[in-house]
Amino acid sequence: MSDCLFCKIIAGDIPSAKLYEDERVFAFLDINPVNPGHALVIPKAHAEDLNGTSDEDAAAVIRTVKKLGPKILEATGATAYNVMSNVGADAGQIIFHTHVHIVPRKAGDGFKHWTQGKYGDGEMASLCSKVQSLL
Ligand code: 5GP
Ligand code: ZN
Repeated sequence: MSDCLFCKIIAGDIPSAKLYEDERVFAFLDINPVNPGHALVIPKAHAEDLNGTSDEDAAAVIRTVKKLGPKILEATGATAYNVMSNVGADAGQIIFHTHVHIVPRKAGDGFKHWTQGKYGDGEMASLCSKVQSLL
């Protein structure tokens, strides 16, 4: 898509620190890393977010995450990593081309886990039924 930043990165019109590329995916370093080695894996086919990405491309993205994650740990000395994709503005998505973050982690690096809530009586069961009925 012509006005998409990540499509421009794939095309080489905007420079990036490329880590890996194949026929379906492109992976590069995030310009504002949580920790050094923070990478983005994106499908070459433009879609706004994971919901619009084909199953084949989604599988290729996750395959690439699995290929790169351990190598990023080896290269950075990080001991773990988070994998996440922000889907929608309210989830923090700012670039609307599907991407999966690989965030290298070390103990005590200060990157906070999400807060944890609690369900009320019967809330889990009714939510389960609702989602299942929509599948
Ligand atoms: P989102 O919040 O949409 O999940 O994350 C988008 C990510 O893209 C951010 O972490 C941001 O730092 C990264 N980013 C934005 N613009 C650029 C850019 O021009 N180059 C690179 N390498 N990363 C970018
Ligand atoms: Zn795009």
